[in-house]
Formats: sequence, structure tokens, C-alpha cells
Amino acid sequence: MLETLRKIVQEVNAAPDLESVLDVIVRRVQRAIRTDVCSIYMLDQARERYVLMATQGLNQKSVGQVSLSLGEGIVGMVAKRAEPINLENASIHSAFAYLKGTGEKKFHAFLGVPIIHHRTLLGVLVVQQKLIRKFDESEEAFMVTMSAQLAGVIAHAEATGSINRISGHNKTESDRKFEGVSGCVGVAIGPAVVMTPLADLDGVPDRQIDDIKAEVAKFKKALSQVRRDIKKVGRSLAKRLRSEERELFDVYIRMLDDNALAGEVIARIKQGSWAQGALKKVIGEHVHQFSLMDDPYLRERASDIRDLGRRMLTCLQESGPALSEIVFPENTILVADELTPAMLGEVPTEKLIGLLSVNGSGNSHAAILARSMGIPTVMGVVDLPYTRIEGLKVILDGYSGRVFVNPSDDLSRCYQDIIREENEVNAGLEGLKDLPAETTDGYRMPLWVNTGLVTDVARSLERGAEGIGLYRTEIPFMIRDFFPSEQDQTDTYRQQLEAFAPRPVTMRTLDIGGDKPLPYFPIVEDNPFLGWRGIRVTLDHPEIFIVQIRAMLRAAEGLDNLRIMLPMVTNVQEVDDSKKLIAQAVEELREEGYSINQPLIGVMIEVPAAVYQVRRFARRVDFISVGSNDLTQYLLAVDRNNPRVAGLYVSYHPAVLKALQFIALEAHKENVSVSICGEMASDPGGAILLMAMGYDVLSMNATNLPKVKFALRGISFEQARELLSEIIVMDNVDKIHMKLRQTLMDLGLGQLTRPTIPD
Ligand code: PEP
Ligand code: MG
Repeated sequence: MLETLRKIVQEVNAAPDLESVLDVIVRRVQRAIRTDVCSIYMLDQARERYVLMATQGLNQKSVGQVSLSLGEGIVGMVAKRAEPINLENASIHSAFAYLKGTGEKKFHAFLGVPIIHHRTLLGVLVVQQKLIRKFDESEEAFMVTMSAQLAGVIAHAEATGSINRISGHNKTESDRKFEGVSGCVGVAIGPAVVMTPLADLDGVPDRQIDDIKAEVAKFKKALSQVRRDIKKVGRSLAKRLRSEERELFDVYIRMLDDNALAGEVIARIKQGSWAQGALKKVIGEHVHQFSLMDDPYLRERASDIRDLGRRMLTCLQESGPALSEIVFPENTILVADELTPAMLGEVPTEKLIGLLSVNGSGNSHAAILARSMGIPTVMGVVDLPYTRIEGLKVILDGYSGRVFVNPSDDLSRCYQDIIREENEVNAGLEGLKDLPAETTDGYRMPLWVNTGLVTDVARSLERGAEGIGLYRTEIPFMIRDFFPSEQDQTDTYRQQLEAFAPRPVTMRTLDIGGDKPLPYFPIVEDNPFLGWRGIRVTLDHPEIFIVQIRAMLRAAEGLDNLRIMLPMVTNVQEVDDSKKLIAQAVEELREEGYSINQPLIGVMIEVPAAVYQVRRFARRVDFISVGSNDLTQYLLAVDRNNPRVAGLYVSYHPAVLKALQFIALEAHKENVSVSICGEMASDPGGAILLMAMGYDVLSMNATNLPKVKFALRGISFEQARELLSEIIVMDNVDKIHMKLRQTLMDLGLGQLTRPTIPD
């Protein structure tokens, strides 16, 4: 059964459109279960009906013609109950509704299973048989497995179908909505520009070209380059390979023949596709053919074809214009399968107005960077067929995490109004720059910023930041090809320290791992967030740690505003070991003649184990800072990067609030200052609660600093304490959100809450 399932899924995956997807499913399932009928009823949201969309065994003419209202018939019952219904004789069931013209009268046995994707019902998969008998357990299990596995493919094909209708020759307007999660608030309207990592065939976007001759020439050039490379590799390995392995190289060369793959690609280019897109299609079809073969050896050849495809794609990409030469359109909305921090730097900032990532979530590091740059961002739009939307107009709603492709004029006008409102609010906040974050009853709250990019410094100072609470040193490491030298690091760090002096600058030691890999230091793990991360990596590599500390200390020479912070600490030994290495670096530099002062040292509280050791840490360090982004993911066991569980990543979860309050109390018992540098401090409601908990410093993204200041200046410390005392005993997250929102409105701070978004 498993093998049948694998094959069906593979074939369905390769089907070009929704119609073919459904068609393959009904044909294959009917054959696999050896039943008389297999049909799919899809939910038509607009008509509120289940429509027969594909069948094998019923009258083909009724496809697309017959339908049931919601709740009608046994199909409606399956959908309503969201569970399988297995009947030996459906026609005698009280809910049975005969569908005229389908010819289903003669079928008695009925098994229907719901097709559900991300809690949303898409339709119902049904098998029927003439016999009066119950489908057995293994058949039912097969159907449930099938439906669960195919729901994602069906949803994707549905979405792709709607995009094709939008982008096809007769472009239609549509308010086709895709759901993701907010990465950075704000609205952006502009053309989509799809960016793909190099040599990723699946990620190649569709693109039409006019100059067919030039495109064919480009492809032929890449082809001869690949041929040359393969021959060269074949010759150099000839002596070490067995004859059948040597033959593989000949097979490769033959595949590149004009009568084989190459010819097919050229034919597609002649139909108007750009070379990369044509290559992707042809390789995809061949890979699919091979993967369906029964012979495991032949099946394996699919990977050879993929490899060839990748090589040709690399050559094509290398011969294309460098990223720096690409002319990006005005108001670019950058779209990627997985947005990376490095990609953000590729588009000139004056052209970039929005970011959209199919993968990742609201607290992925790319989203955090987007927030620091203030670029509206939507993450985790998992159903978006992103390779099909190049050049199409997109509305990106960073408040609700929604994306609309090729929107109607009405919807565009609505969102233009929101953009105008936003601009007015932001203009109103500009005057706050030199005013303190002081509550109406005189309580003063220091507001610091989180930085990482060079440009953050100017933005932060413009917005009145009083210090840096978190400088993410891994970001300059991520945009290079190898570890930066001590001198490189010193220069980079000096820029931050100097620009802020005499204000404090908190530099976090290298925090890689998790969703922050270095391209030149790959870490491959099953559970990267529970693996080799942060301090664990740097303590295992003292040569990296000491060089970084030396660079920080040298950069701070004469400025004396450096604070060093240790990430992902879980036990006191890590703190003791780090302090020893820091002391060693101070000692060395002094011996080398530098005038180095002992920096302040702090730890981040990011994991539950650290929460219960705050006092022990506090006795060893000068300050404590809470990394609420990680603390939330570890407390709630929710991967901050995984869009599937984004809805469970809740910053105002009662357990998170309790932990945050506990940490502040514990740190103060040791008279050690406690700050927070997670994203929660960037939210006006969160900032009010954290102030009330007793946090000494709030560190946030520069974009939100004026909003937070405005909120704190609009409330008294006493009111904040009252609000906290009410919220801390609440156990429903929605109610907590509502309470926070209502409080901001009551205080006349309504403009800090989300604008009203059209549904
Ligand atoms: C955090 O985890 O809250 C934090 C500030 O660090 P990062 O987001 O870089 O992991
Ligand atoms: Mg962290």
C-alpha cells in the first residue's frame, strides 16, 4: 500500500493543474481500492456548495454540473462532521440525496472522507461500490491517509489555478487572498519580484521573453559549457571509475543532445519562455517519468537528470546579469521561498517596499531584520505559488499577514487609505525624538534599540535611542564568505560603539545555529533549535570566541561603553567559562599595550532552564537581558520559524507573562539590572506590561521606538501596574489581547493599534 501511496502522491504532485490533480486522484484511488466509483466534491466558497469536480465511475457529463448545498446529503454530513463516514448501503440512509444525472443509483456501499488543509475543509473524497458491504478498515485507512497527504497538493493546485487565471493572457482582476503571518506591520502595494537561491530548479519563476533568438543562444552557450565540464570530469576520473560508472558520463552527454533534453528546452524557449523556466519544466517532466518507474535503478536516474538540470541552471545563472546589475522596479515587493537576511541587502533600499516569504515565521531572523528596517513583511504564506507571480501587482498587508495578488481597484483604494493613515501617524510621532519616555506620573523608562545592520545606527539615533540593548553580531558574519578577521570585526564594531558613545552598546557574542546558519560554517542537525547554537558553538570554538572578544574590546578602546552579552546560556558553567575567556582576552590585549577596561558582562535568559537560575547568573554577571523571542519558543515548544505552528507562538501566553515577571523579580533580588531585548518590547502593549513588571531597560527595533515612547508617555505607572495585575491572572490569550487593545484605545492611544483592515 505504501508504494501505491508514494506513486499516487508523486503523480499528483507532477500534475500541471487542479483539473489534472483531481483527475489523477480519482483514477488512481479507484484502481488502488478496486472500487466502482471514486469522486471528489470540492467546496465552492462563493456558491456555498459542494461541486462534483472529478469522477471515475459516475457520469462524466455531470462533472462541474451537479452540486450539493452545505449540509446536504452524506457528502455534506462528512464535511460537517469532519470525519469519515462508511456505510454499507447509503441509499437507505436518511441523509442520502440522489444526485440526478450522475448514475449513482446503482451504487450502495459508500465511504467519504473529508479533505482538510490547515483546518480548512476543501472538499470530500468519496468511493462507492455496487455491492452492499462496508469498506474494510484498511480501505478506510488508505482513504484517510490519501486525503491527508493530498490536501496540501490540492490547496496548492487550487491556488496556482487562480494565479494562472490572473496571469494568463486574459488577465482578470482578483482579490485572491493568501494567508501568512505578520513579519512587520505596514502595507505595501507594488509588483512582485521573485528572488531564488542559485541552482534551485524548483524556485525558478515563470517569465516570458521577447527576444527568442538571444535566449536560445544563451541556453546553447550554457549547454556547451556543461558538456565541456562533464567531459573534463569524466576524463579526470576515468582511471578511478569502473566501466559502468564511466558510462554514466556518456549517458549524461547523450542526454544533452539536441534530440534529447536540449531540444525540448529549445522548443519551449521558442514558445516564449525564458531559458531557466524552460529548463525547469523539461527537467521536471523527465524527473517525474523516471520517479514513476518500478525498477529502483531506473528510478534513481531521476537524480542524475536533476543533477544535470542543476548544472545547466548554474551556468545560465552565471551568464545572466549579476544581482547588482538587475534593475529593480519602483516599489518592489521582494518574494522568496525562504527570505534570508542576506537577500534584504540585494535590493536598493529606495526601491524596496515590501517582503514576502513562503517559509519562515514572524520571529524568524529575516522578519526581525525587516522590522528593524521598517519594511512591511508577510511570512509563512505557504500556499502561495510564488514562482508564478513575478511581475504581478501585490498588496501586502503586514498587519493581518495577508497577501492579495492582482487586486481589484476597490481593494487597492482601501489599502491606499490605510497607507495614508499610517503616514499621518508616523509623521505625528516624529516630534517625540528628544522627549523622554516618561509616564504621566513621572516614571522614566530607558528605551534602547536592537541593531545588526550598519544602517540601523543612523535610524536608531534619529529616533532617539538611548543605547543599544542588543547588537546581533552574527549579521555581519552572515553576509560574508568566511569568518571576518579580528581587524574586520574591530572596524565593524567600532562603528556601532563610536556612533553611540557615551551611550551603552550591548554586543552579543556570536549567536549562530537555529535559523542563523553561516554559509561557510554549515551545521546540519535534525533539531537545530535544540542543537549547537549560540554559546554552545563559541565555547566549543574558543579560537572564534576569543578573536571576537578581542575585536570588541579593541573597538571599545577609549570609549568605554561596551557591554558583552552571552546568548543561549543554560548553565552557570557556561558563564564561568566565558568569563575566563573574556578575562584572558583582556589580559592579552593589555600585555600587547592596548588600554582596555573591563567590560560589563551579561547573560541572556532565553531558555526555561535559565529562568530558574536567574539569581545564580545574577551573582556572576553585571546585567541580565531577556531574549523573549527564544524564551517564548522554548517555553511553548513552538518553533519560531515554522509557519505551521505560527498561530501557537503567542508572546502574551500566560506562561510567558508569568516567566517574564518572575525573571524581573529574581534579578532584582540580587540587585542586578534586568532588560528585555526580544520583540515583545517593540509592541506598545508589551512595553507597558514590561515596564509594570519592573524591567529597567526596554530594547526594541528602531522602527517601533517612537510608538512605544508615545504609549508610555500616555499612561501612568500606576495604570500600567493595574493593567498588569488584571492581565497576569487571565488565562485566555484572546482576552489578554482584547484587554490590551481596549486599554490603549481608552487612553486615547488608539492609533497604535492595528488599523481596520477590509475582510
Ligand atoms: C531573543 O531570542 O529574544 C533574542 C533577542 O535573540 P534572537 O532573536 O536574535 O534569537
Ligand atoms: Mg535568541
